[in-house]
Amino acid sequence: MRIGALKESFDGEARVAVTPSSAGHLQKLGHEVHVESGAGARSGFSDAAYERAGVTVHPNAAALIEAVDVVAKVRPPSDAEMGQMREGQTLISFLYPGQNAELLEAARTRGVNAIAMDMVPRISRAQKMDALSSMANIAGYRAVIEAANNFGRFFTGQVTAAGKVPPAKVLIVGAGVAGLAAIGAATSLGAQVYAFDVRPEVAEQIESMGAEFVYLDFAEEQTDGAATGGYAAPSSPEFREAQLKKFRELAPEMDIVITTALIPGRPAPKLWTEDMVAAMKPGSVIVDLAAERGGNCDLTVPDEKIVTENGVTIIGYTDFPSRMGAQASELYGNNIRHMLADLTPGKDGTVVHNMEDDVIRGATVTKDGDVTWPPPPPKVQ
Ligand code: NAD
Repeated sequence: MRIGALKESFDGEARVAVTPSSAGHLQKLGHEVHVESGAGARSGFSDAAYERAGVTVHPNAAALIEAVDVVAKVRPPSDAEMGQMREGQTLISFLYPGQNAELLEAARTRGVNAIAMDMVPRISRAQKMDALSSMANIAGYRAVIEAANNFGRFFTGQVTAAGKVPPAKVLIVGAGVAGLAAIGAATSLGAQVYAFDVRPEVAEQIESMGAEFVYLDFAEEQTDGAATGGYAAPSSPEFREAQLKKFRELAPEMDIVITTALIPGRPAPKLWTEDMVAAMKPGSVIVDLAAERGGNCDLTVPDEKIVTENGVTIIGYTDFPSRMGAQASELYGNNIRHMLADLTPGKDGTVVHNMEDDVIRGATVTKDGDVTWPPPPPKVQ
């Protein structure tokens, strides 16, 4: 098959779905690889680098879409991109079908078979295709780098001839993939790290990474909020109150707060309130990784960095993986080529879209003129 990556049309997006290195793997599966000119430029992959990897470069999106059987993307396609796709073509991209009903309908009516990388089931076998995790890992790391860059002090404690420097105190709220990556980055910079999650089972992971798990003064065990599939559910009002009480105690002490709390299918829970921001020291930094879903902090402005009257910086960027475009593209490119490996069982360049396969079925959101989302629950865990 002919597989092609478009240049991302979303303003400022640096990532690309196929890199020169992932192109080599796709060719070993028997595929021809194509890209739109400039597709990798913002992540440091020139057209010449693709050509050296045996990739055909097309002058524009229309020519690329015309030339291929499978279109690979990072962001969901624009109306214009979808409008150029044809019946029987396959699209592989982040698609967020729950939030993109019109896009799904457009794919269905055009007869495009759409595979959503964000719908890959989170089972062991599919970890190599889990683009949500590979991007969340980058976002967590980058959140710490942005925090450090905006914090006018050391993260690590020091005793120097010129004076003693205390370590920065960092609180991570939500210890999923992004939160754990943030803990790793902050502890390795030498900060004193605290972390909270509604799922008590992550306490061990938090502690094994050198951070301190924040326990609540709550009559019952910290088990509220745990739900099926490893994801969190909304907390009870009592649990939420206990959580906010603890955060109010911590706010004046913390130099950096990184929030990552999400609940599937809902807006981000508001956990860092205006009075907590007001209680923080001048120079403190909040990085709200939930900004795209409404933010965990009351004052977050998506895509902006603001400084409050009391001197607290609040970062609501929603493009953390794109800020590390080269790395993000390498990892996303790997996720895509592993998906294509599963779609090419014979390694002979023939795509077999096997709807009996839990992973392929789970990620397929339109097929042969039907909307196939949401999928049935996976058979294998
Ligand atoms: P996510 O992005 O959905 O949420 C981030 C974190 O926020 C979660 O840890 C959640 O518990 C937490 N949270 C929600 N409400 C909160 C609140 N009020 N206060 C504090 N924290 C709150 O999570 P994710 O990173 O996608 O990971 C979700 C789960 O999936 C985890 O159990 C993770 O280990 C699991 N996972 C499994 C696989 C796999 O098996 N292949 C891959 C990735 C993730």
